[in-house]
Amino acid sequence: MSEKTIFKKIIDKEIPANIVHEDDLCLAFHDVSPQAPTHVLVIPKQEITSLATLTDADQAVAGHMLLVIKKIAEELGLDDGYRVVTNIGSDGGQSVFHLHFHLLGGRALSWPPG
Ligand code: 5GP
Repeated sequence: MSEKTIFKKIIDKEIPANIVHEDDLCLAFHDVSPQAPTHVLVIPKQEITSLATLTDADQAVAGHMLLVIKKIAEELGLDDGYRVVTNIGSDGGQSVFHLHFHLLGGRALSWPPG
């Protein structure tokens, strides 16, 4: 069996995280190395490597995560806007190979990204 990712260990409560939302399909918690005043990660409980490995069978969980992101942004008061990012593979800068959406806000974010 392959090594668990750090996010799977967070799902299994083997390592702690500052959780802001949890339901049957997904988990959201603060990033350990925040790149903005608000930096939350939203991940599926199901082990999916990245957006690139989503299948049609994952449609419900994928849509659910986007709606959860919207609700968390509202709850955290990101009324002036925010950014949602998912990094994919080496060119995308992905470092944890369990699908996650970064929710970044609380300051004006520059564009384009590096
Ligand atoms: P990626 O680079 O794969 O798009 O994003 C991975 C994110 O996970 C990074 O922003 C990194 O700071 C965060 N991260 C890595 N390990 C941990 C951890 O153990 N706990 C939390 N809360 N975030 C983590």
